[in-house]
Amino acid sequence: MTDLPPKEFKPLVKEFADSFKQFKQGGRPIKHEPLSPADQEELEAFTPDTYGPCTCGSGKKFKFCCKNGFKEIVFAMCAAQDGYLEQALRHMKEAEIKIGTTAEILCRYAICWSFSNRENSTKYLNEALKLNPNHPRTNYILGIEAVQDENFEAAITFYKRAIEHYPKEDKVHLNETYNNLGTAFYKTNNYIDAKAAWENALVLLPKDVMVTNNLFECIYNNPDVPKEIRVISPFILKFIEREN
Ligand SMILES: [Zn+2]
Repeated sequence: MTDLPPKEFKPLVKEFADSFKQFKQGGRPIKHEPLSPADQEELEAFTPDTYGPCTCGSGKKFKFCCKNGFKEIVFAMCAAQDGYLEQALRHMKEAEIKIGTTAEILCRYAICWSFSNRENSTKYLNEALKLNPNHPRTNYILGIEAVQDENFEAAITFYKRAIEHYPKEDKVHLNETYNNLGTAFYKTNNYIDAKAAWENALVLLPKDVMVTNNLFECIYNNPDVPKEIRVISPFILKFIEREN
């Protein structure tokens, strides 16, 4: 349960992983391989612009907001995903020292805990909301939790708030949130809004296979959906045609 699939971190943590491997090999240097073009592309999509708005939704530029502890946050997310909670929390502590106890930091602590202890995770999410009720990532994660509880209406509210407050430049997280919003609408049999959300997600990242599949399987090619809704929206057509 996370908004940060490990593959997105692969390029960011490569150096870190390399030095660990070197340590394991008794200090023998290991071959440094350049990032593949695909990794490079993911890295660029994922790392905010230095002078662009910070993805935490503070309204500040990334450089003057979360950039200082970004590496530590990424390490923490990776460690947490791989099941190393203590290591993740150590990285988060370092990030917190650099950035301060912001909603973003509290939310990242929540993500670390979310893999093993939902109670602790919820505690951090609530603290993050107290600091900033509109913090996009916190709302996104609360949306995921609401889906787990099959409370789709609540999930829709959280996802919408996240979408409203992620910077418009943050296509990766907006795409992800629109995709989840689409699924939540679909679960409530609201095909019109599901279609709109998934199509919005596709406009943000036209190569997204998961979103494309959702649209085709659940909407365009789904006989349960009324015919007039199954029509591919004109603004989507160019992405679909380019792929086929
Ligand atoms: Zn920030």
